Amino acid sequence: MDAAQDHLRNGDLDQAVEIWKELVLKGGVYADSARLDYAEHLFDEYEYDDAYTQLHAVLAPWRIFSKSWLRAVEMVEQHEPEVALHLCMSAIDCITPENVRNPARASRLLHLAATCRRLRWEAGIRLTDTDLLAKIGHFETRQKQLRLLTVIDEPEVVDGQLHFWDRELLESLDRPSGTAIRLERPAAYYLKIERLLRAHDGGRVVVTRLEGADWTRLVQLAYNAKHSDDLQTIVTRNNPGTAVEWPPGRNQPCWCGSGTKYKKCCGANRPPP
Ligand SMILES: [Zn+2]
Repeated sequence: MDAAQDHLRNGDLDQAVEIWKELVLKGGVYADSARLDYAEHLFDEYEYDDAYTQLHAVLAPWRIFSKSWLRAVEMVEQHEPEVALHLCMSAIDCITPENVRNPARASRLLHLAATCRRLRWEAGIRLTDTDLLAKIGHFETRQKQLRLLTVIDEPEVVDGQLHFWDRELLESLDRPSGTAIRLERPAAYYLKIERLLRAHDGGRVVVTRLEGADWTRLVQLAYNAKHSDDLQTIVTRNNPGTAVEWPPGRNQPCWCGSGTKYKKCCGANRPPP
């Protein structure tokens, strides 16, 4: 297995594939790992059909309590979450009470239920009663925070409202590493919003500034959201924030909270409204 990974790192793909195929043919303890590594490579190359051919043996219904099965589903989740959800749901359907008398299996079942819950939530499918019984895992919590960050990082006018981050909060928020969400400098962020507001056809907009306490409250609310789409609603409807109307008068304090007059801040280079 290590040799195959070495070949892969050195760009010697044919050699790696040779080794994986040999291990699969031999069967035994390394066959699953070889299939999984090979499938992972195929997914990365967008060879989905070939990847599923490799995973077929690992994903057989009677194998749902094996580590390989869970790893295979998590691999599928990275590429085709809806397929992963389907696999988990079919697996849960096949489970009988006898199946889970063994504590190790019961614990796998809980893991499976949490995966189902997370996938449904991600897919924007309303959670079932059973999902709600499953514990919210670390991964789902992180996804919710990320989604929430995205909702407010990519401001848009919804129902005549727009929510934006307070300067201090923008600086202080702990962005999860390894994600596409990057911290913008306040100047760039407010310029982006000002442009968006100027381009908004509807005229007046209520802009709401979110501060640290609002963020904490939003995270709490997101925690209980049954549906990924609820997050936009949560941001639009549920937070206190500090709301002002846009556009402000030229001599009024700027909407961005800088304390400077609008005409000298975000409204600079703009004719009077
Ligand atoms: Zn401003």
